[in-house]
Amino acid sequence: MFKKILIANRGEIALRIQRACREMGIQSVVVFSEADRDAKYVRLADEAVCIGPAPSGQSYLSMPAIISTAEVTDAEAIHPGYGFLSENADFAERVEKSGFVFIGPTPEAIRLMGDKVSAKQAMIKSGVPCVPGSEGALPEDPKEIIRIARTIGYPVIIKAAGGGGGRGMRVVHTEAALIHAVQTTRSEAGAAFGNAAVYMEKFLEHPRHVEIQVLADGQRGAVWLGERDCSMQRRHQKIIEEAPAPGIPRRAIEKIGDRCAAACLKIGYRGAGTFEFLYENGEFYFIEMNTRVQVEHPVTELVTGVDIVQMQIRIAAGQKLPFNQRAVQMRGHAIECRVNAEHPYTFVPSPGRITMWHPPGGPGVRVDSHAHTNYVVPPHYDSMIGKIIVHGDTREQALARMRTALLETVVEGIQTNIPLHRELMIDSGFCAGGTSIHYLESWLGQRKK
Ligand code: ADP
Repeated sequence: MFKKILIANRGEIALRIQRACREMGIQSVVVFSEADRDAKYVRLADEAVCIGPAPSGQSYLSMPAIISTAEVTDAEAIHPGYGFLSENADFAERVEKSGFVFIGPTPEAIRLMGDKVSAKQAMIKSGVPCVPGSEGALPEDPKEIIRIARTIGYPVIIKAAGGGGGRGMRVVHTEAALIHAVQTTRSEAGAAFGNAAVYMEKFLEHPRHVEIQVLADGQRGAVWLGERDCSMQRRHQKIIEEAPAPGIPRRAIEKIGDRCAAACLKIGYRGAGTFEFLYENGEFYFIEMNTRVQVEHPVTELVTGVDIVQMQIRIAAGQKLPFNQRAVQMRGHAIECRVNAEHPYTFVPSPGRITMWHPPGGPGVRVDSHAHTNYVVPPHYDSMIGKIIVHGDTREQALARMRTALLETVVEGIQTNIPLHRELMIDSGFCAGGTSIHYLESWLGQRKK
């Protein structure tokens, strides 16, 4: 096992990885930007190194700064967390070329899955069902694009091959709007992701977002750890996640889970990963794979008892999976609310000093957050300041525990989306379970009236 790991991230996930290291007896080195100098997890780390100014381009995205920090601190491996460089195949490659272990998949696997067109092609080959759409990237010829859209049938969605974070997508309802939409998405994708390739999919009208968590050791061991329902989204950004997905027959989940584990073996996948699906009318359609730990991993940890971050570290150290699929048991129900520093209804970011931070507690409550009283939320990064996660024997108990947890939570000095979560936890539609990915936006639209 490693003696020392460098954590190339910030915020709650940096703290989460640090906790995993400490539990495993591994020293951790945390890198930080000038904006995060006073963060508590930075002071709690075994070693902490400032790698640059606040803008992430000069700190958390600086490959030379991170790799040279690993060199001077004698770290053996680098954990990228999520976001930042976590899905950057060039970074994974440079880490390995510099003699360190990248805690994640091989650069080849990241590259394959990072391009959504090649990812879909790999999934089709591995027997994973995909959203009907163009075979590969769209051609230049407008006539050909129109023909493809007619075969798929409107509405369609134009998506950037290199897209991520809910950006680089455009829904098209009519043939008249098609070519302009393709051109705009292309030029936006070229500017934002350095890859102008776009592809087309059938736009599913009322799907749910259901994803499968996998772990593979790259040594013929691969398991899936159940599913998560992440349909509560705004602007394609998840805000509530739960496991299991309410109302979906276990047989259907098992079938798709087994296919994901088989696909991992087929593509030689190593590490933790997530297969994201849209689920509509009883069918699963693959949309993309995330080759990293996800924000919502705790709900899976609570229902399976598996520590996903520790498993990532063990796999990177060359260990085989210590259990097989039959040993994976799901127990009870878990729900996660992402706590964002933003206005609960306008979503305007609300950085600044937290004058009072009182997190909830009690049976079945877990809080993953780096925030504390007097913590200053910097304006430079994502607005998420933590996650409240609850576990109960049933969904009803989990909901009740989340309501209590949200009532106990006090955050003063900045605005957060906790009032929104409180409302959603008593909303009849959400409480019934099985809402589509459009539910939250239409709920918000009606609420304003
Ligand atoms: P990203 O990498 O930016 O997260 P995804 O491909 O995972 O992009 O899609 C993000 C979200 O966009 C999905 O959760 C869903 O809400 C919506 N979406 C993507 N593809 C489709 C589709 N074919 N039909 C309907 N909604 C879609």
